[in-house]
Amino acid sequence: MLIAGNWKMYKGPGATREFFRAFDPPDGVESVLCPPFGSLGAAVASGHTIFAQNVHWADEGAFTGEVSTLILLELGVKGAIVGHSERRQYFGETDETVRMRTAHALEAGLRVIACVGELEEERERGETEAVLTRQVSVLRTHESLVVAYEPVWAIGTGRTATPEIAQEAHALIKSLLDVPVLYGGSVKPENAEQLLAQPDVDGALVGGASLDVESFTAVCETAARLSRS
Ligand code: PEP
Repeated sequence: MLIAGNWKMYKGPGATREFFRAFDPPDGVESVLCPPFGSLGAAVASGHTIFAQNVHWADEGAFTGEVSTLILLELGVKGAIVGHSERRQYFGETDETVRMRTAHALEAGLRVIACVGELEEERERGETEAVLTRQVSVLRTHESLVVAYEPVWAIGTGRTATPEIAQEAHALIKSLLDVPVLYGGSVKPENAEQLLAQPDVDGALVGGASLDVESFTAVCETAARLSRS
């Protein structure tokens, strides 16, 4: 199982070093942390597996505010999140830019967590399957690709998808693409077990609860225990 922590725009280098001084993940689960760009160097120095929160599709160029695969690889970063719903909602990310970012990162040798997920109104209108199918259709099966199913209404809201909703969406995604699928959306130590126990849930993308080393470690421990059983 893979448990990834998305720190969003939290934790500078000092707080990053503090987190890693205390972080001792259990065996039997792969843990990845995704700090903001300015803290990547401090995070990589910890020796843990580190992903960025985004990556551009060009090797270099006049793309202010973006970061390239070459820069990430030179820093020792192993992968990147692509297409997070906050990127789609606030920064104009589209299925096409997600396709370009993902394809280039995989080609460059980075791993990718590509995020998909429906808005609340899309679920209410019965469009979840169509939205997920459209978002997944720009991706191709690859050994370094993982998809994260993150229903937008469950991100940072404290509302979690029921295990049944997560399982149904994961099964759909896996019928379209042969890759591991993580669940994301208010995962925390109290609800991790029931979500991770679903047959098509291969791990979690954890936002808020990954900022606290004890909470994130507890989610990793639940995953490790379930992997052993
Ligand atoms: C996320 O940032 O990908 C996420 C799922 O956030 P949260 O766990 O805070 O809902």
